[in-house]
Amino acid sequence: MTDNRLILASANPDSTPLSTLGGVSGLIAALQDYQFIGKAIDEGLPLHYHSGPKIMNCISLVGCSPVYALTDSSDEPAGIVSFSPVYSEMQFIYGANTMTPKCTQCHQTMGSWKNLLPEPLAVCNVMSGDIECEHCAQSNSLRSLRFRREAVVGRFFINIHGIYPREAVPMDDFLSFLQRFIGGSLNYFYCQGQ
Ligand SMILES: [Zn+2]
Repeated sequence: MTDNRLILASANPDSTPLSTLGGVSGLIAALQDYQFIGKAIDEGLPLHYHSGPKIMNCISLVGCSPVYALTDSSDEPAGIVSFSPVYSEMQFIYGANTMTPKCTQCHQTMGSWKNLLPEPLAVCNVMSGDIECEHCAQSNSLRSLRFRREAVVGRFFINIHGIYPREAVPMDDFLSFLQRFIGGSLNYFYCQGQ
């Protein structure tokens, strides 16, 4: 099973997300009114929701032959939106698709960068994952590495499941709507499970 995610998070990972307007539950209620999401999925998956009838007004499919499956008919999660809790400290998420990062000092690729990290899509504290370069022994913090859109640092994440890397982007209107709740501008990322 591959879990392909479009992940939305604060553009500024240092910001405190969802400190107003009712927190996560307030955001979820607003997104149900917006019809971005529908009912909760009642299968022991907290903070997982079916996609709503207007989700395609919120994301735009791009690329050659993108298909967004609105139902979870295969063994790949799709038609599902999930929310993380608000973490007290910054967390890091990467995917099986994440490019090998380069050392900030010697600029060589660090092939062993994942050795001490959990599996793709698992959340880990960004401070716990300093990566020692195998070429020059520089200690690189996860925050200092460049992952483009293939890994994310933040304290709150919205996961849109069933989106392959770069096959959809969030619409500007939708990001503006979210921004009122999140309390700052958002960015988007693509991470795949194994
Ligand atoms: Zn190095």
